[in-house]
Amino acid sequence: MSDTPSSPLKLMVTGGAGYIGSVCTARLLEAGHEVTVVDDLSTGHADAVPDGARFVAGDAAEVGGSLLAEGFDGVVHFAAKSLVGESMQDPSKYWHGNVATSLRLLDAMREHGTPRLVFSSTAATYGEPAVTPIAESTPAEPTNTYGATKLAIDQAITSYARAHGLAAVSLRYFNVAGAYGGFGERHTTETHLIPIVLQVASGERHRVQIYGDDYPTGDGTAVRDYIHVVDLADAHELALTGATAGEHEIYNLGNGTGFSVRQVIDSCREVTGHPIPAVVAQRRDGDPAVLVAASDRAREMLGWQPRRTGLNEIVADAWSFVQRRIQQ
Ligand code: UDP
Repeated sequence: MSDTPSSPLKLMVTGGAGYIGSVCTARLLEAGHEVTVVDDLSTGHADAVPDGARFVAGDAAEVGGSLLAEGFDGVVHFAAKSLVGESMQDPSKYWHGNVATSLRLLDAMREHGTPRLVFSSTAATYGEPAVTPIAESTPAEPTNTYGATKLAIDQAITSYARAHGLAAVSLRYFNVAGAYGGFGERHTTETHLIPIVLQVASGERHRVQIYGDDYPTGDGTAVRDYIHVVDLADAHELALTGATAGEHEIYNLGNGTGFSVRQVIDSCREVTGHPIPAVVAQRRDGDPAVLVAASDRAREMLGWQPRRTGLNEIVADAWSFVQRRIQQ
């Protein structure tokens, strides 16, 4: 993963049976770390836990928290509810599932003296900033409950780090896509653009809906910053080894290049050779026109260097994963 070899760490990955958690676990294992995955399988899949990781089924706070008594060098905390729409319909699930669970995990880390935390935060903490690209100094004004819960956890981490000497990093993800080996996106409720477009290419869906073509962008469709899941995963190891006791750093993770919905669909057509019918539909509530990251801080402070930045490359890896899954 990183260019600088680091000594192996004993790590707990909560949510390691999910999309990003499984890829991160695979990369941490490859880098020589020892990983225990804790996942309640509410949205993850047991077969997504990479070989070589120990798997313990259960809640991140209860089960994960008590396991910390074994003595861990750090926690990478992915386990969370992450559907924006659902967070608006059922806020209790998000405040309890995300904030309360994370607070209990933080308390357990403190109790058992776990020194490092890398937390899976999100661009949704920023809301709809007028200025693009978005730097970490952009005021955090989330427009949905999901983003609000992640921001609340970030704030709790800041105070725990200061008060209790925790070395903490929050990574604010933009649009994560792509796959790694057998690990990719397979949500029961799929809302993300690239997997949806690829469902059309694989015959699981007739056409894709473009949510709005009257945005103030080049082609009228919304623009996002797509980052390859492996580049994202690799930032976690750098964060673990680069974290400083008593400090909570926040880094945006994105490529710094925006692609429109139409550009994504075109890339999927090119990669899959499928015509992928598309129709224009209503805008989706709460979707900002443009979300592009300024990730200079992660590059400077962590030495992070995304390597898989081409849209076709990201889509091709996601497509390989879809084809592999269909053949199984
Ligand atoms: N989108 C779309 N059709 C879909 C799914 C998504 O046009 O079926 C658009 C969505 O409105 C947004 C972009 O694609 O502008 C990326 O959406 P996604 O849900 O993947 O990520 P988000 O940026 O919302 O986190």
